Amino acid sequence: MTGAATIDALPDTSVPEVAFVGRSNVGKSSLLNALTGQGTLARTSHTPGRTQQLNFFAVADGSIRLVDLPGYGYAKASKGAVKSWNNLIRSYLEYCPNLRHVYILIDSRHGLKDGDKEVMDLLDSMGVAYQIILTKADKIKKEEMDKMFAATEAALKKHPAAFPQPHSTSSHKGYGVDDMQTAVFKLAHPDVSIDNL
Ligand code: GDP
Repeated sequence: MTGAATIDALPDTSVPEVAFVGRSNVGKSSLLNALTGQGTLARTSHTPGRTQQLNFFAVADGSIRLVDLPGYGYAKASKGAVKSWNNLIRSYLEYCPNLRHVYILIDSRHGLKDGDKEVMDLLDSMGVAYQIILTKADKIKKEEMDKMFAATEAALKKHPAAFPQPHSTSSHKGYGVDDMQTAVFKLAHPDVSIDNL
């Protein structure tokens, strides 16, 4: 739909928004593509350090907007780049009255990293509800996933704005994607029955 590299370029605030955030390479573009059923909607290859922007995707006949927040945690990111990321995200979170929920994507193999915890603290402090999505579930065994779930749940207890349970997905195998589509719809339209679609 549109992209915004500065806060002045954000689209109007009439449509409910659900935002996606995560370290670079966590599988965010792949999940957005899987959720929307469009193979090339969000680019799946990125050049670290390229201009960062918020990307907006209109879905469900334009009644919901998915917001792809720029990835963080590039090993090579300069301090200036980190600062501008923080400023852009903070302004978006402060400005956007129709943001319903944020999904923080975490690689199932790696768990929560410092950058993720900083984002969680920011969302807690701003009272923005969020849920952890454990991505690339096909890459680890069930026992490892069970341990990652338990560790993540334990960490979430300290975060007041977090949904208490994480959700796992595999964009490549399609696990957990239907459930997320339903959840996004319900978040954006809490009063509409999903059965009427
Ligand atoms: P982004 O930087 O967060 O947007 O990450 P991408 O969606 O571009 O994915 C980064 C890499 O992880 C790519 O090589 C993807 O093919 C791979 N990837 C993404 N999702 C999955 C998944 O569910 N399973 C597996 N096995 N690989 C994935």
